[in-house]
Amino acid sequence: MALIVQKFGGTSVGDTDRIRAVANRIKAYYEHGHQLAVVVSAMGKTTDKLVDMAQQLNENPRARELDMLLATGEQVSIALLAMALDGLGVPAISFTGGQVGILTDTKHSSARIQEIDTSRVRPYLEERQVCIVAGFQGVDKESNITTLGRGGSDLTAVALAAALQADECEIFTDVDGVYTTDPNKVPTARKMKAIAYEEMLELARLGAGVLHSRSVEVASKYGIVIHVRSSFNNAEGTRVVPEDQVMEKVVVRGVTLKTDEARISVIDIPDRPGLAASLFNRLARADVNVDMIVQSSGKENQNTISFTVPRNTLRVTREVVDAFLAEQQAGSVEVDEKIATISAVGIGMKSHSGVAASMFDALAKNEINIEMISTSEIKITVAVKEEQGRKALEVVHDAFGLGDQPAQS
Ligand code: ASP
Ligand code: MG
Repeated sequence: MALIVQKFGGTSVGDTDRIRAVANRIKAYYEHGHQLAVVVSAMGKTTDKLVDMAQQLNENPRARELDMLLATGEQVSIALLAMALDGLGVPAISFTGGQVGILTDTKHSSARIQEIDTSRVRPYLEERQVCIVAGFQGVDKESNITTLGRGGSDLTAVALAAALQADECEIFTDVDGVYTTDPNKVPTARKMKAIAYEEMLELARLGAGVLHSRSVEVASKYGIVIHVRSSFNNAEGTRVVPEDQVMEKVVVRGVTLKTDEARISVIDIPDRPGLAASLFNRLARADVNVDMIVQSSGKENQNTISFTVPRNTLRVTREVVDAFLAEQQAGSVEVDEKIATISAVGIGMKSHSGVAASMFDALAKNEINIEMISTSEIKITVAVKEEQGRKALEVVHDAFGLGDQPAQS
């Protein structure tokens, strides 16, 4: 008998038929004799609809009230799932985040879990009732309802698995695992058997939508193995595991493409201490999320600083940069609105040289110009013109042999 935490996302509980299917699936586990805690998200696009309704009434709803509203989505699905299980003869009981003992800080809409007091659910698990838990929500110490950030049900599942010291944490979703790249963009992409926390974290941060990045952080901290798998079939998915448990040693594990980026170049600003600090502090205060940064020195003690930002923050970025340049009474700005970034990620890079060179070679052979480069210990990112993004993704994926091997079973 094992204690298993399972999580079903919004698509998996999108309507009552799907909820019934999920209930049947849980029943099968239950009949194997397992203790089960099941975390669910709001049905389908419920959370989006709730956000939309809030905005119709108030463009800037108070964070506390927004959390109060959004948390209702998950409350609907836990109750329905508990009823469905009950209807199948499986004893089940639903809990909100607060009821299950998830204590968070007060930062509404992106609250952090501080503690999970499992004393309320334990006895139910021990009696073998299936405990259905609302994802994405908790309460602060004043019992205000908080939410953990969009997509936060993954985090609920992993944190609960850690608190319960569960044997397994399964994330059921609408894809059947983690792929070497998005199979919708590169058809030869392969599903991985396993991926290290560090690699998954990079991929999640780069926008590989499978897992919430903070859920990976928590899994890594507590050594929780996450099994990402499809809610529509029984195939083995991908396990997110500690580095030493990844059997297949490769240099690059996965490749991602981010479009919707823009590049700003701040040209001919004086080369003196404090200027970059001033510029990026202003951007931080305006909540602009800067990604790649490159500085190059030009003529006569002047610098050019180029950086990328999400395209939808271009307007505010321009305002900030214009204000900065006005204050400096120097320099000018250039904008390239259509940039894509391609990143190769793999822990194998720590011990291999020449990875960047192979990536640049592949791009060069295909006449793709590199506009910017940045690297970290396990990641290389290049920026290219947006219209070449797809092609760049494909050739980099190929260059590291990710697509041309038979699927792993
Ligand atoms: N329902 C929430 C959202 O849509 C949480 C989740 O799905 O994980 O973001
Ligand atoms: Mg979701």
